[in-house]
Amino acid sequence: MASNEELDTRDLDFIRAIIAQDLASGKHQRVVSRFPPEPNGFLHIGHAKSICLNFGVAEENPNSLCRLRFDDTNPEKESQTYIDAIETDVRWLGFDWGGKTLYTSDYFDKIHASAVTLIQKGQAYVCDLSAEETRNYRGTLTDPGRESPFRNRSIEENLDLFERMGKGEFDDGACVLRAKIDMASPNMNLRDPTLYRIRRVNHHQTGDSWCIYPTYDFSHPISDWLEGVTHSLCTLEFEDHRPLYDWVLAKLELENRPRQIEFSRLDLEYTVMSKRKLNELVTSGHVNGWDDPRMPTLSGLRRRGFTPKSIRTFCGRIGISKAIGTVELAQLEACIREDLEEKAPRAMAVLDPIKVVIDNFPEGQVEEIIAPNHPQKPERGERTLYFTREIWIDREDFKEIPPRKYKRLIPGGEVRLRNGYVIRCDEMVKDPESGEVVELSCSYDPKTLGAPPEGRKVKGVIHWVSAERCVRADIRLYDHLFTEPNPDGGGDFTDRLNPDSLTLLENRPVEMSLANAQPETGYQFERVGYFSVDEKDSTPERLVFNRTVSLRDSWAKIVRKG
Ligand code: ATP
Ligand code: MG
Repeated sequence: MASNEELDTRDLDFIRAIIAQDLASGKHQRVVSRFPPEPNGFLHIGHAKSICLNFGVAEENPNSLCRLRFDDTNPEKESQTYIDAIETDVRWLGFDWGGKTLYTSDYFDKIHASAVTLIQKGQAYVCDLSAEETRNYRGTLTDPGRESPFRNRSIEENLDLFERMGKGEFDDGACVLRAKIDMASPNMNLRDPTLYRIRRVNHHQTGDSWCIYPTYDFSHPISDWLEGVTHSLCTLEFEDHRPLYDWVLAKLELENRPRQIEFSRLDLEYTVMSKRKLNELVTSGHVNGWDDPRMPTLSGLRRRGFTPKSIRTFCGRIGISKAIGTVELAQLEACIREDLEEKAPRAMAVLDPIKVVIDNFPEGQVEEIIAPNHPQKPERGERTLYFTREIWIDREDFKEIPPRKYKRLIPGGEVRLRNGYVIRCDEMVKDPESGEVVELSCSYDPKTLGAPPEGRKVKGVIHWVSAERCVRADIRLYDHLFTEPNPDGGGDFTDRLNPDSLTLLENRPVEMSLANAQPETGYQFERVGYFSVDEKDSTPERLVFNRTVSLRDSWAKIVRKG
């Protein structure tokens, strides 16, 4: 494959450029990558960035592949529920790992054998210091650490102790296996890091076979190597672990070593991204589960109505680099708006209804009006609307005393019903006590369906739903989960939760075509926003719609005004 032609990598991010060079130089014939989640929580949009990168580089290059490998070395925090959810989410995003799911625990025998090899080479030792003593011995960023008194145990003694650790002869925490590297290293990760610890916990994959478990830092390079990984892509917090990653592979004298490359993690405005914090939101009941539509989890976003395409587009646009920064939520929202503008069938729903009686339309009569599912795409088909004497319009679309430039309904004024007739407001019915307008008496002009008659100027168009032929739905409006763009900025992040992140509107009139709405189909409620049926709570008897996103970025407007 090596060629003399100059390789043009200008359009590639730095990782794809490295990969292109490795393929062009013949260093590798193909790319092998992996996505290695720890099954201790649900995947979030940050993980999607890593998934799109790892599966992306495999898809883009010939004969290449990306595996899904659960990094399951901390069994006490892990569970099958998380494994199942993660697999569902990766598949939902549209990626395929070739059927067989892998686990670091598949390699426990081999990782154990590697530990024995290191002991035999005099590169690892069993250390009996307590956790606290180990911390004290480690030193600080400015002070070198001190060597453990157990550091110079003989190879034979270490082999014997490690074997007995594995047999369960010692209590949890009584001792650990450590790498013998350098207690004075400026890199704390190289100050004799732990390779194995004793944990008597049942493991979701291996049951009670093991009472010692390898650390992430020890198992990761070995697992990568065993799978023939060429490029081990991870986030920047592992940069300081790379020397240890390389040390393990070098001391084991393994050939064709994978190369670890780090990129910056995704941080998104108005949310938190660490699984620990998301877990706290779930367990303390601030949200209704990992898949709450306000969560930045993939299952939450799916339930909210985000599409795989919108998330992949977003990950493509934010790109891959080492630059640290927080991405605007508006960028993610723009991606789903774009996708739904194309895809979403249109429908009408009235969120804050006020009754309109069409006085010149006969009682009991129903007129069917055919309207397009998508105004620019006739191929998307049609739906039937029902025009009746009583209809609902939105309270916002009528003003007794209109502000300047108000184009909607006013006393004596005309407005066009979307997909329907022009109506005129003849009279207001007011509540005698509060003076509030409770009903409008209107008349319709039968000549105005479709195009207006010549010379007729009606500027405003409003949405409506027949009061006699409609279905009712609960509508959930979502806003930012936190009130601040960077809720992680110190102190208790839950103090910055937005108390108004969920508004429930019960029993609102929506058009008949929505009666059979299915989850994962986004609808544009005309003039209102994009909505989709809640995959968990919606039933044919009681429809529940989640607002995926508003039609426009209302926060940007507020910020500009402010
Ligand atoms: P968290 O910090 O949310 O708990 P994690 O890094 O512990 O995440 P893992 O399950 O270990 O979660 O992550 C699997 C992969 O996803 C890792 O390679 C990790 O680097 C990557 N990843 C995690 N969070 C992000 C993020 N915010 N942006 C990009 N990649 C991420
Ligand atoms: Mg992790």
